[in-house]
Amino acid sequence: MRRRLQVTVLTVVALAAVGATGGVLAKLHYGGVRVVAAGPRPQPLPTSASPEATPAPQPTRAIHPPAPAVRLVHWRGPVEGIFFHPLILAPKLAFRGDQLGRGFADYFVTAREFRGILDGLWRNGWTLVDAHRAAAGTVRVPVGRKPLVLSEDDVNYYAYFNGRGLSSRLALDPSGNVKAEYGAGLTDDDVVPLVDEEVARHPEFSADGAKGVLAVTGYEGLFGEHDLTDPAARARVQALVAQLHATGWLIASHTYGHIDLSKDSLAAIARDTSRWQALTRDLIGPTDLLIYPFGARPGAAGRALLRDAGFTIQFDIDVTADRTIVDGVVMMSRRHIDGYAFAGQVRALAQFFDVATVVDPARPRLS
Ligand SMILES: [Zn+2]
Repeated sequence: MRRRLQVTVLTVVALAAVGATGGVLAKLHYGGVRVVAAGPRPQPLPTSASPEATPAPQPTRAIHPPAPAVRLVHWRGPVEGIFFHPLILAPKLAFRGDQLGRGFADYFVTAREFRGILDGLWRNGWTLVDAHRAAAGTVRVPVGRKPLVLSEDDVNYYAYFNGRGLSSRLALDPSGNVKAEYGAGLTDDDVVPLVDEEVARHPEFSADGAKGVLAVTGYEGLFGEHDLTDPAARARVQALVAQLHATGWLIASHTYGHIDLSKDSLAAIARDTSRWQALTRDLIGPTDLLIYPFGARPGAAGRALLRDAGFTIQFDIDVTADRTIVDGVVMMSRRHIDGYAFAGQVRALAQFFDVATVVDPARPRLS
């Protein structure tokens, strides 16, 4: 089969949602970013771990059950990143023939697919690592394994999810574990609980206790709590965030209004940033992580403004692992894992999982 350079410009899919300004915004496209897949990508080195081992820090207090000590070694190669959106639990409700259904097919994966992907990641030797270590170039992995920064965008459970077979919010179960609310009950079928379970099953699937990065906007609240004037909802978010932070999850800004940082004025970026920080100050606390909506990179002035607001680690979207440091900002890329990727990047994704075995039979034909 001939190698062919595919150039895919992922453009607007209108998943209508009410934006920060009260207008209707087109959501969840990766517009403005040229996502380039170049035939079979070179496999990462089997391991570029250095020989000198660094023992994992020992917990000072007993953990029940005792976690086996995982021996970690430094990683010197590039660090891959992949991202998802909240998972689809009921494909029949999501994948209807309307425009929204097309958007779900193109930009989301189902819970069944995500379970298959986690299994592939584990079998193919990947280990979740901390985004701060990836940014600093101090990643460590268990011997023989490869580092991966996992992230999830728009962990807001927008109103447009209603009736489309996705969860409605993140919530703690009676034992304090993070689950997703679906209908009247709690489910494991979402990114956070499924990753938590995979790490519990396979401690070497995580290094340094890392899980992933959850990116939230602010215009419809946080984590599915849509009315943050309600003290009970605020208390729920604070308890949830405490548990997420305690279990290896980091939280990133995805801007307040899911704005296009490549197009908006500096004044608009400043205003949006203030709104996100005001909303999250007492509920999340400070974060130095920012994930660009649509993967759209700001210009130098916008990047510096965001840096001065504390976001010194910024993420875009690409199909190659990239980490560059510009003007005091570490920029890291992430691959989008979704229907688009299943359709066009089978060989590039083979290092992570086998698309053919992962694709949900309930998904519409890949296009
Ligand atoms: Zn987004």
